[in-house]
Amino acid sequence: MNKLQNYINGQWVASAATDYWNVVNPASQEVMALVPAGTAADVDAAVKSSETAFATWKRIPAGKRIQYLFKLKHLLEENIDELSKTITLESGKTFVEAKAEWVRAIENVENACGIPALMQGDFSEDIATGIDEYMIRQPLGVCACIAPFNFPGMITFWFLPYAIACGNTYIIKPSEKVPLTMAKVMELVDRLDLPAGVINMVHGGKTIVDGILDHPGIKAISFVGSSAIARYVYSRGAANGKRVQAQGGAKNPVIVLPDADIDMTSQIVIDSVYGCAGQRCLAASTIITVGDHAAITESLVEGAKKRTTGFGLDESVLMGPVITPESKTRIQGLIEKGIGEGGKVLVDGRNAKIPGYEKGNFIQPTIIEGLPLNGELARTEIFGPVMSLVHINTIDDAIAYVNGNKYGNMACVFTSSGLHARKFRNEADAGNIGINIGVAAPVAQFPFSGWKESFFGDLHGQGKHAVEFFTQTKVVIERWLKEWTRKF
Ligand code: NAD
Repeated sequence: MNKLQNYINGQWVASAATDYWNVVNPASQEVMALVPAGTAADVDAAVKSSETAFATWKRIPAGKRIQYLFKLKHLLEENIDELSKTITLESGKTFVEAKAEWVRAIENVENACGIPALMQGDFSEDIATGIDEYMIRQPLGVCACIAPFNFPGMITFWFLPYAIACGNTYIIKPSEKVPLTMAKVMELVDRLDLPAGVINMVHGGKTIVDGILDHPGIKAISFVGSSAIARYVYSRGAANGKRVQAQGGAKNPVIVLPDADIDMTSQIVIDSVYGCAGQRCLAASTIITVGDHAAITESLVEGAKKRTTGFGLDESVLMGPVITPESKTRIQGLIEKGIGEGGKVLVDGRNAKIPGYEKGNFIQPTIIEGLPLNGELARTEIFGPVMSLVHINTIDDAIAYVNGNKYGNMACVFTSSGLHARKFRNEADAGNIGINIGVAAPVAQFPFSGWKESFFGDLHGQGKHAVEFFTQTKVVIERWLKEWTRKF
């Protein structure tokens, strides 16, 4: 069985760990590899290599640093099919979904190639007589990323390209559930001829995360995962004096107004709820209809029933399994809880059996209607293919419900009225807003702007926020007097 190794200082090295965990295909339960339950010693080795590399990497001009990113972009594009297949095998999402993930990752590499302009400073001449003042941006040092399971490729790229283009060195900690994708990416990184130690990868779980949070050599941490761990990472990292951005969980509401185009709305909402088996931090979770709801309900039920579930490499399949048997049990338990709270199951995806994949963690699309708005299911992140359908009478009450949500990752509205859309955009308490859009995922130039319990920190991933996060400003005030200048 393939035992995964860490990538440190430009070399593949065995982890100091003695324990290993299985990396499992969620559609078949086949064990594909063993991932080390890394140790603090692994983190220390990666930090040492990153610190040494930083001393020279930060002095390489930004215009030269980005040449490695151009090369990486081409390698990612050349290998996109294999990288996507790896994502499907270890995470369960379909090949098409996996490929879409790489398109978004590559977009961030392209955006970070603009760093020479993006990290420019500011200059004011004559802030007083003979005195100029200017601000330059400098890298921080060793930075690290801790990633979740649901986007094994893309999420690391919300941070990594910006970090290294700005002159930092980097340590990647992939999710222990899906470590094979980043291992493949590191094989490509190994072909870049980057100076050793600029990009490192360590495998593991909580022990590695704690090692990163406590290591004095690490200056900044980007985390993406559930809210409880995001809060923990943010608090412990900040207490240790680090810069931290921690993106957390979500429970995304979508309002459907009576003037929305039913067919388009239904199709987009179905894609949002069931794409990646609902395991997307921007998956629509609660669909709130305003006013008459018979037609949209019928259309959503029909759409959910048509969503083919199965093995993600099978071309006819639109939805794969959830990540682990524990996830499946947890999600089915939440559906039961919803029924106990008075919810009516319009489409029941529990106990799905997929021929040829009987052991897979499959749940088919599910719709529950009429949950109490203050019940547990209406408030809990399900992270599975379950739609809660809620009927509310007015747009004001619907927005009030959206704003009562403890999460603020995304909120969407479907309408043909610009006025209603504008009201929603202005009043909804969420950081990523969709107007007739089901997955309001910002492109690379914009910050991934979660609010409330969906984000702990100040500066988000991607775009200009990433440039600010990965640089520190230095302000210089300079005086040059005529009297000091020798005449020649
Ligand atoms: P998770 O919080 O379980 O794990 C995320 C990372 O934290 C992993 O690398 C894991 O090894 C580590 N970790 C797990 N438990 C830990 C602990 N006790 N102490 C320290 N580290 C620990 O999340 P997940 O299940 O991998 O991912 C799903 C979650 O991520 C969902 O809540 C989803 O909404 C969220 N997510 C959010 C965004 C966003 O942009 N806001 C994007 C993707 C996923």
